[in-house]
Amino acid sequence: MKTLDPARPPEPFFERLRAAGERLLVLDYDGTLAPFTARREDAVLYPGIAPLLAGIQQHATRIAFVTGRPAAELAARIPLQDVEIFGAHGQEHLAPCGRLTRAALRQSSRQWLDASAARVVDAGFEHALERKYGTVAIHWRGEQPDGRARLQELARAIATTLPADVCALAFDGGYEFRVSGHDKGTAVADLVTRHPQAIMAYLGDDLTDEDAFMAVPPTGLGVLVRDRLRDTRAHLWLRPPDELHAFLASWMAAVKP
Ligand SMILES: [Mg+2]
Repeated sequence: MKTLDPARPPEPFFERLRAAGERLLVLDYDGTLAPFTARREDAVLYPGIAPLLAGIQQHATRIAFVTGRPAAELAARIPLQDVEIFGAHGQEHLAPCGRLTRAALRQSSRQWLDASAARVVDAGFEHALERKYGTVAIHWRGEQPDGRARLQELARAIATTLPADVCALAFDGGYEFRVSGHDKGTAVADLVTRHPQAIMAYLGDDLTDEDAFMAVPPTGLGVLVRDRLRDTRAHLWLRPPDELHAFLASWMAAVKP
């Protein structure tokens, strides 16, 4: 565990957490709580994480997930009740009651995304394609070097036709085209607006989590969870799974009466 921002060491954070009337633990899933796998459907939580989260949830901590996956897909993978999920990088919101809401999507954006997805399929890479609401993602994790190079070239070619309201984003293991206006940062900002008094932390691993780190209020903590440190706006870095486990155990110790 390494403090990246000297102004936000973890000890005072846990003290604030202990004293807080409201707490918010916001989590990315893939690469943060669940190690990457060649097949995305195989990604499961690190051992010991689920009971820790369930325990934390019982002590006045609201848990929310912010993921690139469709919200409903993540809901089916999480062994927790009463959580809210921002899916498709903030374009979907699944309330604890099960109500799903989605950001508006222009027809021209939808058509461009459909056409871009068709280019991936036509190139013989349907298996590397992920369609989500307002999003086309191309995954090259698990590809051979030749396939990876062809997919990267295809992604670059698609990026040259990008409309003004669609953004292109590299992530760990692929590339994504997504309608602008919503990202993991807007998801965190939404939570902060609804819970302004909450002491919160956001845990994530990817470049797409940087928007979320920046949306964490000054009383909170952005936590980068990955094997290797990189340039980041996070305030704390920890290596999974042992330091992740230790961080959540510290949260549990702080909130348990
Ligand atoms: Mg991730």
